[in-house]
Amino acid sequence: MNKLKINFHLLEECNYHCKFCFAKYDDHRKLTLAEQKAVIKNIADSSMFDAINFAGGEPTLVRYLPELMKYACSLGLKVSVITNGYLLTREKLDAMLPFMSMLGISVHSFDDVSKRTIGSCTKSGDILTNERLQKICEYVYASNESGKSDCKIKINSVICKSNCNENLVAGIRHLKYVQRWKGLRCQVFEGNQDMLVTDSEFQGFVQRNQASELNQVFENDMKDTYIMINPYGELLKDGADGKSYEVVGSALREPMGQLMDRFNLKQDIYELRYAG
Ligand code: SF4
Repeated sequence: MNKLKINFHLLEECNYHCKFCFAKYDDHRKLTLAEQKAVIKNIADSSMFDAINFAGGEPTLVRYLPELMKYACSLGLKVSVITNGYLLTREKLDAMLPFMSMLGISVHSFDDVSKRTIGSCTKSGDILTNERLQKICEYVYASNESGKSDCKIKINSVICKSNCNENLVAGIRHLKYVQRWKGLRCQVFEGNQDMLVTDSEFQGFVQRNQASELNQVFENDMKDTYIMINPYGELLKDGADGKSYEVVGSALREPMGQLMDRFNLKQDIYELRYAG
């Protein structure tokens, strides 16, 4: 069996308010830096994982994110981050890039009105403009070219009611340095019913957005294939009701291998998700 990738959601807070957001957790306690490191160590010690993705909420709100990334790297894990990109300054990128093998940026539209309709903006309506997004990609590319980093760029797009009729191909091509584009069908989650798409809307988006050179993958269903730790250090799995999470157990108290025995990972679908 290939080694796995785990998603550590460090916090629930976010500077955006996407209407489909599924980063909602019942437990609002937070871990200390030492506890977060203990979770990362547990993950590395299990030998089941070779990669960790830091997520949120918005992980770049965590002041010491580069320290966590460095720590995970020191334990032999490949490190990635998924962010909405809005807070990515050059200083933040400089601190993160030496430890990052993949920067994932959530981009659901290249249309400013659509971004705001989705909620992919701050409370005052500020967005990550297409120009700033391009500059971030160029900065990562230049850092790689200078030998300071070796970081791929991935774009994640959630396909929802507000963008399912759009064509994102030209926008992604224009960014030039994207190595992977993942389209995820909006998953059912408490309170996001208005953003769900029908089968034909999802298929329509997939057909319209075909561009094989973009190394794209479109995912219809993530059920039992997304391995996640919540901000309180608990391994979660999809709930039986199909729209919430269930706690498997705490990575602060139990070895990861033992927790994963109770996860019910769909190995075949999981491997397709992370291929490429
Ligand atoms: S950027 Fe991500 S975490 Fe923030 S509101 Fe949107 S979906 Fe949720």
